[in-house]
Amino acid sequence: MKVSIAQYAGACFGVERALDIVVKNAEEKSNVVTLGPLIHNPQVVADLDSKGVRVVSEPSDVDNATVIVRTHGVVPEVIESAKDLGHDVVDATCPYVKKVHLAASKLEAEGYQVVIVGESGHPEVEGIVGHAKSAWVIGSIKDLEHLSIPKKVGVVVQTTQSQDLLQEIVSFLCIRCENLKVINTICQATSERQAAAKSMAVQCDCMIVVGGKNSANTTRLYEICLQSCSNTHHIETSDELRVEWFKGCNHIGITAGASTPQKYIQIVKAAIDNLVA
Ligand code: SF4
Repeated sequence: MKVSIAQYAGACFGVERALDIVVKNAEEKSNVVTLGPLIHNPQVVADLDSKGVRVVSEPSDVDNATVIVRTHGVVPEVIESAKDLGHDVVDATCPYVKKVHLAASKLEAEGYQVVIVGESGHPEVEGIVGHAKSAWVIGSIKDLEHLSIPKKVGVVVQTTQSQDLLQEIVSFLCIRCENLKVINTICQATSERQAAAKSMAVQCDCMIVVGGKNSANTTRLYEICLQSCSNTHHIETSDELRVEWFKGCNHIGITAGASTPQKYIQIVKAAIDNLVA
């Protein structure tokens, strides 16, 4: 039986960068907090907690702290209010998410109705809306059907969305408006992980997707794998693995969301190797 890890799997540039920023600040300072969990990975958040990094919801939940803005970014007002409260603000927003902020605000300034292809309520999407206040958040064609489409529409995308959804929405819009500008802000790390997971899932009898259950990009990988491999399972830790999933399998594939550090993937691989030995 073969157990393989997808070509692109696990923590991306933005997550590694944010982790480095937080760990460095925690080593140098005493009152370090993140605004919301740094990434959607409970194990990483627990690990940071053991290093003294607490999670707060609002800048006002803490006094005189180093407040770290997570990879997903926030609305500009949150950073301003943290500074007004006297906190030292460290912005760990992924540079690719910042590009979406800039693209959305530029489109709005140019008179486009901004469409954000993304998941309503997701922190990254809320941060983007903060930079283009009249934007529409569109999660499926259904969200567009009841809207009156203006002449000028500008599209940006939550960095972890699927290319397929973007294509569907662009196809819908392009025959309904006169001037459609699409800025594809899906991050390369996301595309690479999705493509690698898709091509691995067609070759495997079982797919294990590792990452936070609250992680949008991990859930998307799970859905992609499930389309080609019905024996696909989304787990956070190796404790959730079940030996019966692997019965009769020739090839087990492992992939992981962009918020899962490599060491957690290796732990899962070692546990599977053990179970099937
Ligand atoms: S998935 Fe892309 S946009 Fe999101 S944190 Fe990673 S590198 Fe940045």
